[in-house]
Amino acid sequence: MLGGYAGKILRVDLSSGRMRRETISEEWLRKFLGGEGLATRILYSELEAGVNPLSPKNKLIFMTGPLTGTITPAAPRYSVAARSPLTLCIGTSNAGGFFGPELKFAGWDGIIVEGRAEKPVYLLIRDGEVELKDASHLWGKDTYETEEILRREVGGKNLRCACIGPAGENLVLIASILNDKCRLAGRTGMGAVMGSKRLKAIAVEASRRRIEVADEEELKRLSGEIVEKLQANPLVKLLSDHGTDGFFKLLMEEGYGLAKNWTQAGFAVEKLDGENITRNLMVRRTSCFMCPIACHRDVRIDSGPYAGYEGPGPEYETVGAIGCLCLIDDLKAITKASDLCNRYGIDTISTGSIIAFAMECYEKGLITKEDTGGVELTWGNVDAVLEMIRMIAFREGFGNLLAEGSRRAAEKIGGEAPQLAMQVKGLELAMHDPRVKPGYGLSFATNTTGGRHTEGVEGSENPSTIILDQNMHAVVNSTGLCRFAYVALSHEISDAVLFSYVPKLLSAAVGWDITLEEVLKTGERIFNLKRLFNLKHGIGKEEDRLPRRFLEEPLQTGPAKGRICNLKPLLEKYYELRGWNAETGYPTREKLEELELSDLLEDES
Ligand code: SF4
Repeated sequence: MLGGYAGKILRVDLSSGRMRRETISEEWLRKFLGGEGLATRILYSELEAGVNPLSPKNKLIFMTGPLTGTITPAAPRYSVAARSPLTLCIGTSNAGGFFGPELKFAGWDGIIVEGRAEKPVYLLIRDGEVELKDASHLWGKDTYETEEILRREVGGKNLRCACIGPAGENLVLIASILNDKCRLAGRTGMGAVMGSKRLKAIAVEASRRRIEVADEEELKRLSGEIVEKLQANPLVKLLSDHGTDGFFKLLMEEGYGLAKNWTQAGFAVEKLDGENITRNLMVRRTSCFMCPIACHRDVRIDSGPYAGYEGPGPEYETVGAIGCLCLIDDLKAITKASDLCNRYGIDTISTGSIIAFAMECYEKGLITKEDTGGVELTWGNVDAVLEMIRMIAFREGFGNLLAEGSRRAAEKIGGEAPQLAMQVKGLELAMHDPRVKPGYGLSFATNTTGGRHTEGVEGSENPSTIILDQNMHAVVNSTGLCRFAYVALSHEISDAVLFSYVPKLLSAAVGWDITLEEVLKTGERIFNLKRLFNLKHGIGKEEDRLPRRFLEEPLQTGPAKGRICNLKPLLEKYYELRGWNAETGYPTREKLEELELSDLLEDES
């Protein structure tokens, strides 16, 4: 048996209650690794073109990678994938924490969920024993309550749980899946797919805590080297010391124009920086499984309207989306908003972005207080933001429209609204500004899942660097590794000492004799596979675009004042370098043959 992998996956048909174990061929494992790569390959084969994402015919896949749960530093991740109800593209999202490792310890590489249960259920996995259990009493509970109840009812001390909150149950298209309370598969609406299947949670507990690898001594040696390199990297130190929001000030000083729905730079730079969280709110740093970086932090609020809160603090993306986009400069209020999103199970990036979009519509008179049910959606109005989060999660009143995501909401509102929705392929943008660094624009426009930062986000204006970054991310997201440790903080391969460890880690864990060249080709294959998935489901070149604001409205303030993103020439060069047809956006036949993917799309290149 291969090392690293548990050696089997679980297929659960919720319509019939049938469950069976399956194995994946070594050919597929080597070509697609695991995580989002393997999950996308399965979905490509098994979903009919144009499948309704919220129908029983869509499939929801939880998939670990070959390094998940091994002693490799910062390798806690599992991916969730399905056709996204928000974007209609391939939907993938990955989360850290402890759920992925526990699933592997229990002996499963992944779970394919099919069909729809008649009534709410949860899946209980204890090693090889798998049961579907009634979840009627959990339906309506928030994610924290769900985990606590399951822990009380069934759990031993190692029980880990991935679940949805009310938003997933209500099929809110930006619903997330949470595990370990605050680790999120947040993007692309995977929580809505889980809700559509009436699957409230997956709870897993293993009796052993070990994953067999091919060469344990070598993996230990490599892991020791990696920890040393991580500790010597100043950007990793910043991440450790002040969390993801430790980068806030650095990025804002480059001129990011996030404020007021991406129209202004320089908003509350000192107040919202992560150093402020560390100094004034943090009670402890927290970590995912076996990660020496520990980039998360628990915070406590001792005064003001949110006094008494103690729990996860906000990440950079949340501070950007809820804080800057909506003009809220109070970290305590942002923490409260983040907590509500986590409990209800909605993605903070999309939520902040959608509310900021609605605020701009309100300011411009495209919607009124009558439309919002009396909520004054004015900039910086904290109470309005908190109320709107609740209304979105429960699809109440105006929240029902916003629960569809900014693209659909804008189409419904009409007039100028579609230009104010800051999304790509229907997914609200991550907090990186293409006017400051055009490479971010190219990354967003070509990202197969929408306006994402975890599928590759590179500031360089060189399309070949963007392609390399996207391919490296495809590998990292398919192995169980965390992007912060292996790619995000060192983009160039020559500097990316940690990405260059990936083939060595795979060789030691799995037993393959694999080179950096093969790993990079694998990343390219996975990225192209996701592109093919989208093409199969009718999402083509016309969706490789950016919001008009980035292309035509120069920033009015800050160091990047006057700049726009000139996407067209970057995109043309990108297609050429990718080996994609400039007219149709399809990968050429030669490219598919080179990547050993030509069997997937015989007629369309
Ligand atoms: S860097 Fe942060 S997100 Fe990544 S594995 Fe470590 S603690 Fe988790």
